[in-house]
Amino acid sequence: MTFRRFVATLSEVERASSRLVMVRMLADAFRELPPAEVPLAVLLLQGRVAPEFEGVEFGVAEKEAAKALALALGRDEAEVVRAVKEKGDIGAYAREVLPEHDGGLTVQQVYDELRAIAEDSGRGSQQRKRERLARLIAASSPEEAAVILRIVTGRLRLGAGDATVLEALALAFLGDRNKKPLLERAYNLTSDLAYVARLTLKGEDALRAVKLEVGKPVRMMLAERLPDPERIMDKLGPHFAEHKYDGERIQVHFDGRRFWVYSRRLENITHQYPDLLEALREVQQDSFIIEAEAVVVDPVTGEMRPFQNVLNRKVKHLTRELVEKYPVKGFVFEILYHAGEALIDRPYTERRQVLERWFRPHERLALAAKRYVEKASELRQFFDESIEAGCEGLVCKKPDGEYEAGKRGFKWVKYKRGIAGKLSDTLDLVVVGAWLGRGRRAGGYGSLLAAVYNPDEDRFETLTKVGSGFSDEDLNEVLPRRLEPYRRRERHPRAWSLLEPDVWFEPVQVIEVEAQEITLSPNHTCAFGVVQEGRGLALRFPRFVRYRDDKSPEEATTTSEVVEMYRNQWAQGST
Ligand code: AMP
Repeated sequence: MTFRRFVATLSEVERASSRLVMVRMLADAFRELPPAEVPLAVLLLQGRVAPEFEGVEFGVAEKEAAKALALALGRDEAEVVRAVKEKGDIGAYAREVLPEHDGGLTVQQVYDELRAIAEDSGRGSQQRKRERLARLIAASSPEEAAVILRIVTGRLRLGAGDATVLEALALAFLGDRNKKPLLERAYNLTSDLAYVARLTLKGEDALRAVKLEVGKPVRMMLAERLPDPERIMDKLGPHFAEHKYDGERIQVHFDGRRFWVYSRRLENITHQYPDLLEALREVQQDSFIIEAEAVVVDPVTGEMRPFQNVLNRKVKHLTRELVEKYPVKGFVFEILYHAGEALIDRPYTERRQVLERWFRPHERLALAAKRYVEKASELRQFFDESIEAGCEGLVCKKPDGEYEAGKRGFKWVKYKRGIAGKLSDTLDLVVVGAWLGRGRRAGGYGSLLAAVYNPDEDRFETLTKVGSGFSDEDLNEVLPRRLEPYRRRERHPRAWSLLEPDVWFEPVQVIEVEAQEITLSPNHTCAFGVVQEGRGLALRFPRFVRYRDDKSPEEATTTSEVVEMYRNQWAQGST
């Protein structure tokens, strides 16, 4: 298969009527490729040349890409830059202006060129990148060039989620899409889709043998939620509760020399925590993988500061001033690997014992506070103490629960503070559409259509329209700027909706929403037919809280969590 055929498949996949059709199309395309090119195709599908955690970026802004296009066309730079800006999409512009041409490029050739562009750095790299890109464009058909330009400018979004790609690989090379769990496990341990593709080509045994590796992020285990201590006791029995710290979750890897820090979304954020790494280096010699919550503490009193403070460290060049102004403390709650041994399949109690032996006191480090609880009253007491200590509540952990990478389950249950007259927790929803504003809001958006994620179906199911809680600036400027790049004419194949908003979006932007209650609704598709035939679930009095750029769409609140919240909402605890 040539790159040209691959590109044609991409545009077919974009128009697929359902996710299952997407899976089949992708599987057919994978099968047609020479095996060595399959992992490369998997990366290109994500618009990348290396897994995200490796941090290999193209470093090509749209303007630079437009200059490369001008060079390929032999036209005036300024003119092309202007035209691209007007069109708003460099891919669409390239498709219009480039002459028909078939250079017979292979996936391998395109990948190699793109990788070379990404890896070039230092003096004169801007110029070299531009020239290399221009040569590649000149050798491409207009359709190919459109995809290449979208990849290098970070605009390619196929919209096939990781789960869909894994399912397609299972169908293509193991002959059965139901073998996806095998691939999923390998992916959860390594976070590397291309690597999983390579293993799948080798067969089931290779997938089964995969282990976690220091340096490769493990996809994080997530907690389910329950509204009150009684239900938590029913579900878990006697267990260990830990304080739920409100900072940034980090996974820290150390191979005895080098550190890696990964965010919840598995971005490499090592540069964000120099003070924490220094502390770890002082007290640890052996390799490990741990998880902690990084919380900003007051430099004078040592008190914990709210979550938002830690965002001040999310800058490209972290200065000493910022580090000193926002000092962090790491509250360690997990150990996944220590001195050559993977621990994730061990029960919580054993991991916690290893963690406590591993731990060395340091001003910048602490173990997450824990307590063994046998009764609801003890749980409630510990919860009150956690709030007093400045935490968000508790994470309750099943004593025999292993670390389930990449999964949200009842081995961990979170218990957060509720506010009277409101749902006990906010929801993280994915924006899939919008209605245009009228009157004062004309020109911007009036309300958004927001959805939950259903991991079993790998699709987004609508839960609510949300129009309040936004400032005028949000609706007229911030949201259009954030959402416009993802606008599309039709519904996205992974969004399931009974409503027809004015515009549709690719499911990318996650927002946090609070509400008063969850109700049955004939208009929304969340858990449609699960609680009652012909009805889905919806939010009553939803209100926007904040943007959740730290969450990927697949990390949004899930359908089953909403069902659980619906069933629990009339039985809230006294908190
Ligand atoms: P949520 O983000 O509401 O789904 O809650 C789960 C998050 O709580 C995790 O992803 C961690 O970032 C955070 N957390 C804070 N303290 C703990 C703890 N002791 N154990 C596990 N997670 C914790």
